[in-house]
Amino acid sequence: MKNLENWFEAADADHIQKERRKAKEIRKSQWWKNRRASNKCYYCEQSFPAKELTMDHLIPLARGGFTTKSNLVPSCKSCNIQKNYLLPLEWAEYMQQLRNKGIG
Ligand SMILES: [Zn+2]
Repeated sequence: MKNLENWFEAADADHIQKERRKAKEIRKSQWWKNRRASNKCYYCEQSFPAKELTMDHLIPLARGGFTTKSNLVPSCKSCNIQKNYLLPLEWAEYMQQLRNKGIG
C-alpha cells in the first residue's frame, strides 16, 4: 500500500501548477508511452486501449504529491473519476475491494 500519511499534506496553488506543467511534459515522453503500452489500468488491473488510459498521480497533487515517475500510473477513465470524487480513505477502501475480488 501507499504511504497514506502523505495524502493529508496540504498543497498550495504554486505547487499544483508547477507539478501539472511537469506532468504535461512527461505525458509526451517515451517513458509514458511505454508505461501506457501495458494497456492496463493500475487500479482495477483491467485491459484498455492505450489511448483510453489517462495519467494519474498516485498521491494527488492537491495533497502534496509530486510529478515523479514513481507517482505516475496509467488509469482507466472510470477509476480516474472514482478517485477524483472519493475521499482518500474511501478510495483506499475501494482499492481494497478491487483487490479482494481478486481481479488480475
Ligand atoms: Zn481502472
